[in-house]
Amino acid sequence: MLDILTILVLLTCMSGVIGAVFLVFWFYRREPYAYLWWGIGCCFSTGGIFLLASRNQIPDFVSIEIANALILVAPGLWWAGVRDINRQKVGLAALIPCMIWIMLVPIPWINESTTYRTALFSFAMAAGFVMIASSLWVNSTKRSIRRPLALLCMLQVALSLARGGMALGASVPQNIFEAPPWFAVSLFQPILSMFVLSMLGLLVVMEQTEQRLRSAAEIDPLTAALNRRGFLAKGEKALELAAREKQDIGLILFDLDHFKSINDRYGHLAGDDVLATFVALAKGLLRPTDILGRMGGEEFAIILPGADEDSARCVAERIRSTFNKRVFDHGGIAVRASVSAGIAVHPAETARLNHLISKADEALYKAKAAGRNRTKVALARIA
Ligand code: GH3
Ligand code: MG
Ligand code: MG
Repeated sequence: MLDILTILVLLTCMSGVIGAVFLVFWFYRREPYAYLWWGIGCCFSTGGIFLLASRNQIPDFVSIEIANALILVAPGLWWAGVRDINRQKVGLAALIPCMIWIMLVPIPWINESTTYRTALFSFAMAAGFVMIASSLWVNSTKRSIRRPLALLCMLQVALSLARGGMALGASVPQNIFEAPPWFAVSLFQPILSMFVLSMLGLLVVMEQTEQRLRSAAEIDPLTAALNRRGFLAKGEKALELAAREKQDIGLILFDLDHFKSINDRYGHLAGDDVLATFVALAKGLLRPTDILGRMGGEEFAIILPGADEDSARCVAERIRSTFNKRVFDHGGIAVRASVSAGIAVHPAETARLNHLISKADEALYKAKAAGRNRTKVALARIA
């Protein structure tokens, strides 16, 4: 036979251990703050469940009103942790589950009935898990671990609602330690949610760390454009998508003109400034679907999905002429620069990225040979 007190003691221990693990993680790493929120959340649930288990030993007000309020602070703080990972503000909304309890439990017919209190608690807990699930889902991508975790949270919602419904249908005796077996079984739901919480914490943080490392490996630190590796990876995906939609794909290669002499005349820092400005300026002239990368040194490439020859030429010319008109102020000295561009365009279905790059490179070479500060298009289409 399931003993309710034993289950509550077990829950207290589990919650305490999970909270301690989160707090230790946070103590050593100091980030993400989510660890702190989750750890404090577990402290609240540990305290609350402990008080709940002390029923009949301490005043009812403490073992009922206070205990359940403390437990219901926890889902709000777990939600706060997910918001922190999403880089969203954590507001007073974190107190919603707890406030539902605090506002409604003083109503006499709820307060005096274990049945209604159990139902109220379960519905407040369900509200907390809806908040967690939606925060996980909103910031997820198709393959993100957040989606199964959000579904697991929705399972908690369903179980909490079922528990509330059961309480209303079957009624719970005044002394919860004498409650029927379904009540004891329903206490496994918080155990499950503890597992969900610990998995949620570890997996979401792992996924975020992996994303950060991946993007750090694919971003050029000076200009914040994609580096060659990131550009090629994104470019292949864009090519696939354009092929599926039977579009053309355009590629522009840019090489800053006489860049070595800018470095020689004004210093390497001025050169760095010019590189970063070129990227900022080009980004401002592109569509969100275009992909810009730094191929190395003072060479950049742009993939234009769906662009025909005319529109690719138009984009290249706009960037070239805007850059050429720009006057850089380097410590009071006016620095001017120019850029040459080579373009290749091809139906995406039969295009290969490395062929597009080499064709655009041939065109770029011609632009340089023709006097620089101009745009050339690769004449022959790629075989
Ligand atoms: P061209 O018009 O023929 O392209 O001449 P160029 O001087 O631009 O070409 P070259 O390949 O001779 O020189 C490229 C220069 O770019 C040499 C290198 O020092 C400079 N460079 C490469 N990466 C960076 C960087 O990150 N910062 C700065 N400031 N300069 C860089
Ligand atoms: Mg070069
Ligand atoms: Mg150059």
